[in-house]
Amino acid sequence: MFMNVRNYAQGHLGSAPEWNCEGCGEPWPCPTFREIPPPGLQTATLVHLLLLMAGAAIRDLAARPDGPPPHVVLKRFAWFMELDDRHARHAMRWL
Ligand SMILES: [Zn+2]
Repeated sequence: MFMNVRNYAQGHLGSAPEWNCEGCGEPWPCPTFREIPPPGLQTATLVHLLLLMAGAAIRDLAARPDGPPPHVVLKRFAWFMELDDRHARHAMRWL
């Protein structure tokens, strides 16, 4: 089942290498994106996509000298999982 993420995001989509929202300029995923209701059966697709984007964002952001640690980037993109630092560091093994 294909999901058009650009339509789903309603203009609130982030992209490499800055990972700020194209719509509001906030660090992505921005508060507006987080408030969009989950798309029912397509939620698993969305989660998969967000984790793929987290991997790319970690490479872009955490590699900078002043960038956040990788597990902090993962927590930002996987906010819906409510990871604590220990679990986020553990989950980094699979990205
Ligand atoms: Zn936004």
